[in-house]
Amino acid sequence: MFLRRLDRAVEVEVIEPDPALTWASSARSAASIRQQFSNDLNVRLSQFGLQVLREPGPWLSVGGEAPDLGFVESAYLFVATTAAGAGVLRASHAVQRAADAPVVLLEAEALARRYPWLRCDDVALASLGEGGEGWFDGEAFARALARQARALGARWHTARVTGFQRDAASLRSARLADGSRVDADCFVLAAGAWSHAVGALAGVDVPVFPRRRTVFVFGCPTALPRTPLVVDPAGVWFRSEGAGFIGGWSPAALDDDPDDLPLDQPDLAQFEDRLWPALAHRVPAFEALRRTRAWDGYYEVHPLDHNALVGPHPDCANLLLACGFSGHGLQHAAGVGRGVAEWIVHGRYTSLDLSPLSVERVAAGRAFVERAII
Ligand SMILES: Cc1cc2nc3c(=O)[nH]c(=O)nc-3n(C[C@H](O)[C@H](O)[C@H](O)COP(=O)(O)OP(=O)(O)OC[C@H]3O[C@@H](n4cnc5c(N)ncnc54)[C@H](O)[C@@H]3O)c2cc1C
Repeated sequence: MFLRRLDRAVEVEVIEPDPALTWASSARSAASIRQQFSNDLNVRLSQFGLQVLREPGPWLSVGGEAPDLGFVESAYLFVATTAAGAGVLRASHAVQRAADAPVVLLEAEALARRYPWLRCDDVALASLGEGGEGWFDGEAFARALARQARALGARWHTARVTGFQRDAASLRSARLADGSRVDADCFVLAAGAWSHAVGALAGVDVPVFPRRRTVFVFGCPTALPRTPLVVDPAGVWFRSEGAGFIGGWSPAALDDDPDDLPLDQPDLAQFEDRLWPALAHRVPAFEALRRTRAWDGYYEVHPLDHNALVGPHPDCANLLLACGFSGHGLQHAAGVGRGVAEWIVHGRYTSLDLSPLSVERVAAGRAFVERAII
């Protein structure tokens, strides 16, 4: 979409085997957006995402009609229970304030006054967004981007990429499962959790792997006001969703996080053993919660630092990556899409410098440091 917007002379072909987005992470996401990152670039990527979500009209209208992205503006609340955790929140807060993100730090007493339903006696510090955060309809957002791209003249191929034709330095064409071939001067690999597999077809290593994450839906017999998206140091998160709640758990260690677990088979023991005890600890009323359903999807995990890989691949001159978002990709989709378009048209980033997310950092073992990974 951004590419056609920037330069109508560039012809864009989108290859997507699953237009219904059955397995796409974009349609299985918790679809939330925050400015509470510890790295300035991530804050600014979210700020551009926020601009598009708050006012989609100028970016995503087709035939004068702006899409309904279901954006609910509501806070994230990060909780720390140790001095070290409080130190991270303070350092992140300084970065966020420098980027004009309206985030405040709250001591336990102030937190308890604000959220009487929250257990605060073990809280060392909390960080709260006072605007510019919330959640939206991830599938509607992905469809709106696609609809806009089509309206601007991008062509769609409903087929899987099964291989590439390449010479020593670069790719010539993509082979599709329907037997057709798409020739191009430049290729963008944005296959989400399947990026390692598609990279292998192009003969390059793309360290991005499918790691299942489950979103559990539950209700609470005690009426609670709408909650922020609470991120607890026990590795769990929850937030209001309609009249109930959703929440999930992420493993702290990569060895507890296998690749390719089947989707649509949520691990209910995870809810009983990991999520519920932590939820009931943080919100005593959740002791009596009732789980109603669950869904899962793949985080597209980049294990080095859990942040996106964006830009040209060092082993293939005309292959750009836009993948590896590791669980915060929807909110950064607009900023990365815009940046990749700039790189293709101008050979450099012109609005936000995405070079800290470059693929070279993988071989150099140089992590992009972000402390607020969920
Ligand atoms: C449970 C969960 C919660 C999340 N919560 C949040 C959140 O709160 N906020 C946030 O910002 N992000 C969140 N994320 C992450 C976010 O959803 C992803 O980062 C984002 O959707 C990635 O978008 P994508 O287009 O790169 O990948 P996808 O949406 O997965 O799309 C990749 C596409 O590649 C296609 N593909 C696969 N193989 C091939 C092939 N061989 N040829 C051609 N195409 C192929 C697939 O069909 C698919 O449609 C969450 C993810 C999950 C799973």
